[in-house]
Amino acid sequence: TTHEETLGFQTEVKQLLNLMINSLYSNREIFLRELISNAADACDKLRYAALDNDGLYEGDSELRVEIEHDADAGTVTLRDNGIGMNRDDVIANLGTIARSGTAEFLQQLSGEQQKDAKLIGQFGVGFYSSFIVADEVTVRTRKAGDDVAAGVEWRSKGEGEFTIADIESPQHGTEIVLKLKDDAQEFADDFRLQNLVRKYSDHIEVPVRMLKTETAKDDDGNPIEGSEVTTWETVNEATALWVRPKSDISDDEYKAFYKHVAHDFSDPLTWSHNKVEGKLEYTSLLYVPGRAPFDMFERDGARGVKLYVQRVFIMDDAEQFLPLYLRFIKGVLDTRDLSLNVSRELLQQDPKVDKIKSALTKRGLDMLKKLAKDTEQYQTFWNTFGSVLKEGPGEDAANREKIAGLLRFASTHTDTAAQEQGLADYVERMKEGQQKIYYVVADSFNAAKHSPHLEIFRKKGIEVLLLSDRIDEWLMSHLTEFEGKSFADVAKGELDLGDVEDEAEKKEQEETAKAKESLVKRVKEALGDGVQDVKVTHRLTDSPACVVLPEHEMGYQMRRIMEAAGQ
Ligand code: ADP
Ligand code: MG
Repeated sequence: TTHEETLGFQTEVKQLLNLMINSLYSNREIFLRELISNAADACDKLRYAALDNDGLYEGDSELRVEIEHDADAGTVTLRDNGIGMNRDDVIANLGTIARSGTAEFLQQLSGEQQKDAKLIGQFGVGFYSSFIVADEVTVRTRKAGDDVAAGVEWRSKGEGEFTIADIESPQHGTEIVLKLKDDAQEFADDFRLQNLVRKYSDHIEVPVRMLKTETAKDDDGNPIEGSEVTTWETVNEATALWVRPKSDISDDEYKAFYKHVAHDFSDPLTWSHNKVEGKLEYTSLLYVPGRAPFDMFERDGARGVKLYVQRVFIMDDAEQFLPLYLRFIKGVLDTRDLSLNVSRELLQQDPKVDKIKSALTKRGLDMLKKLAKDTEQYQTFWNTFGSVLKEGPGEDAANREKIAGLLRFASTHTDTAAQEQGLADYVERMKEGQQKIYYVVADSFNAAKHSPHLEIFRKKGIEVLLLSDRIDEWLMSHLTEFEGKSFADVAKGELDLGDVEDEAEKKEQEETAKAKESLVKRVKEALGDGVQDVKVTHRLTDSPACVVLPEHEMGYQMRRIMEAAGQ
């Protein structure tokens, strides 16, 4: 009995397959990257599992990926002797997409090829990208350590369903056979494949091998018939990238490795590669992506680094090594300071983890500081991840000042919604005698820009930061100082313009206040308990009146968030 059954793909998979095949046509060589990446991951996983039980190698501990092609049959085959999959794994991994937010993500797709290609790249197509070049895909796999009879064959034309059957499989690991579409026959070519393998897997530690046939030649240089010898030859460099000296690694290699680690299609914005010896011993290679993953704001979105201990892969998404506000950073951490049998639970208790986390946080912030020297690149970063970085001052008091230096705001300096002004720029432009950094918070940029509280500031030419992101008020409640200057909400408490005002102005204000005492009294009586106090103000130049909050009162935005949370 082969226990064969035909199952339908999850709706999301069907949608993804359709969209992908249409929109990634011009990018289709990436299927090879995805499949090699999976094979390398599978080898990493077996090596990790075998730490506890080396019987899982089944006598074959030389991990490797093999690629073969057959131009006549129009096929490309990838084979790995990694961890493999059992029947349940196959159904879950090659029949569904388990990530939360997938359905919402798919709804954003428009049918416009270029736009969708970008979005899908951001989502990560993985195994399903096989169907960009193949009209039929066969996967034969067996989980390492399982019975020979527990092999599984998965077969699909990518059209809504797949067939799954039990098979005998003497060899553990996974073999994938792609039957190439008519217009994708170019990939069943030795030269083409070799180039792609180098491009996509030089940085991967596991060797990727291809068959090479050598023919002996006679004295005249003519091939000797029948002398062909075919052997496996390793095509990639097969050294983990981060282990190599920085000076040896090209930008292209760094970028290719990023795509493997981050499951991203596009280039990273920047990276930072460090080897540290001493009290802590680790190598880290951290990247800032060029764009946000689709699930950045999902609670359970993948984040963290790929963790290795002494070059042995331990886990993906080790989130203990970076703070939440740097969750966009991707990369690798390889350390000697943890034991090989470390688990997620153990990570939570190990004091060394906190030390490495502080060190990586510093690396991450330094990397951003460096990036900030390139205004244009930094703006791309800020527009993508700024709202995440704004969580920083609240989460990480120790690095508050450093993070503050990386923030960017809209301000009355330009009066545009673009968040481009750093606090250092603001401080540099401060008026003589000005002691505070002024800001206003509102629900939208326009509301902030037209706030009546700004009138006096505009009149005096004092710059005010215009804040309107949801997180801004919370951010400002944690930012107390920058370069020794405190922050002041222009809509709260007494208006104090410091020494920007001269004595004569102050005196004039006091006189006005006196003259209007009876008016103030009448307004106070009219408003009754609705207000705490009524005062004559010089905040305004055009508007007749405005509402001011007491110094330590929760702001409107914060209050609304609390109310929404039922408090
Ligand atoms: P991702 O690699 O981002 O998880 P993929 O679509 O590429 O997504 O792969 C889905 C899952 O299928 C993998 O997470 C893995 O569990 C499984 N898988 C794919 N290829 C292999 C393989 N060669 N060996 C073992 N498992 C694999
Ligand atoms: Mg993958």
